[in-house]
Order: sequence, then structure tokens, then C-alpha cells
Amino acid sequence: MRKSAAEIVTCLRDHVELLDGSGGGFCLVGEGTSAANGAASPVAGPPAVPAAPGRLSSDDRDAAEIERQVRACRLCPLHKFRTNAVPGEGNWAAELMFIGEAPGRDEDVQGRPFVGRAGQLLRKIIAAMTFREDEVYITNMVKCRPPENRVPHREEVDACWPYLARQIELIKPKVIVTLGMTPTGYFVPGRTSIGQLRGKFVDHEGTPVMPTFHPSYLIRNEGNKGIRRMVWEDMQKVMALLGRK
Ligand code: URA
Ligand code: SF4
Repeated sequence: MRKSAAEIVTCLRDHVELLDGSGGGFCLVGEGTSAANGAASPVAGPPAVPAAPGRLSSDDRDAAEIERQVRACRLCPLHKFRTNAVPGEGNWAAELMFIGEAPGRDEDVQGRPFVGRAGQLLRKIIAAMTFREDEVYITNMVKCRPPENRVPHREEVDACWPYLARQIELIKPKVIVTLGMTPTGYFVPGRTSIGQLRGKFVDHEGTPVMPTFHPSYLIRNEGNKGIRRMVWEDMQKVMALLGRK
């Protein structure tokens, strides 16, 4: 049985209170249930671009134009494998932006980012951070699914970068969180590991970027409370910067 949104929020709150600073402020509820089969998030937010009454502002027009361009893009070979391109979703005035690696199978089918198992965990983390999904923006380094979910090649990331650069430029987030080594490696050049880079803000053209572990890594290491605690520590730094704690 899948947990209701209310149960999940209660669970998150309990964990925040009980495990704050020791175990991670979110829990892996729903794992091993229908959620594990890639069902849509029970706490899924509203559609990507807020409905504009009457005329679109120039920013709304730009946002819609980026989405249109991504959905039609053929700039790199990944377009050949996609069912749907996945531009991203959330609030175009978000203070907080999450950047993952690439769409997976569920994302490719639905055309939405982070809707599979890792996505459900990311959305729980966002809720534990006291953000609603329609307050943040979620996207990926590349907007089309690589075959067999392989890591995107550098040329693919380079080809796709202008879309992400434009998203950052329009959204002007106060903080960016990079999930795992693919986005982190792009923002923090040099050969190193996410274990070394996580937890410390780096600068991207004036915007603080917090690298942390990818939620898929948390799921793969589900029994490892240490990793969960580190992610929660990283997210608490982000919350502090945004005045959320
Ligand atoms: N993993 C990612 O990096 N991005 C998604 O959208 C889904 C899973
Ligand atoms: Fe275009 Fe990016 Fe998709 Fe490549 S991954 S086809 S650059 S949208």
C-alpha cells in the first residue's frame, strides 16, 4: 500500500524532529511498495509553468520558449533515443533549483523530471526542507534520456548546456543543488569525487552551488544512515542560507 501524502509529511516531520543532526530529516517510506515500481509521486506538484492569466509576461514567454525548444531539440544524438524530452518543472521564480543527471525511463515516458523512484525520494527531501514542489525548480544536466541510463557524454552535456544556462539565467535561484557527480563535475571542474565535494558551497557566477549525493545513490545504499545524514546536513546548509530553519 502506498502511503498517503499526509502520512509521508508526518513521517518526515517525525524524522526531522527525531533525527535532526543525527540521522537525516527524511525517510525512505514507500520503498518496496508500488512507489518502487516507478508510480507517479504521491506528492507531485502542479504543472511546470504557472498558468498566466491573460497575457504572458516576457519571462513566462521565455520559459515556454525554452520548453518548446527542448522538446524539439536535435542538437545531440540523445534525441534519437527519447520518447519525450524533459525540460524541467517547477517555479520559474524559484529560490532553490535542483539539477540532476539525466531523465531515466519514467521521466522519458512522462516528460517530467524526477518522477521515478529517485524522484520520489528527491521530492521527500524537498518536503523535509519545508519547500513545496511548486516553490522549487527541478531539472537535469541533459534533457533527453541516454540509452540504458548511461552517464551522458561530455559532448552531450556541452550540447545541452545552453538550455540549463538559460534556465538558471531566467530563474535566478538563490541556491543551486547539484545531485551527484554529473552536474557537480560540470560546476566544479577537476577530477575528484562527490564524497569530497559535497557539503561545501561553490560559486557559479555569483550563485552558491551545493553539491550532494544523488538520490539514486541513497537508494542503492539504503541501509547506510551515514550517507543519508550527510545529504541532510548538506540540505540544512541550503535551508539556513534560505532562512528556512
Ligand atoms: N535521475 C536523474 O538524474 N534525473 C531524473 O530526472 C531522474 C532520475
Ligand atoms: Fe537537445 Fe539536450 Fe536532448 Fe541533446 S539532450 S537532443 S542537446 S535537448
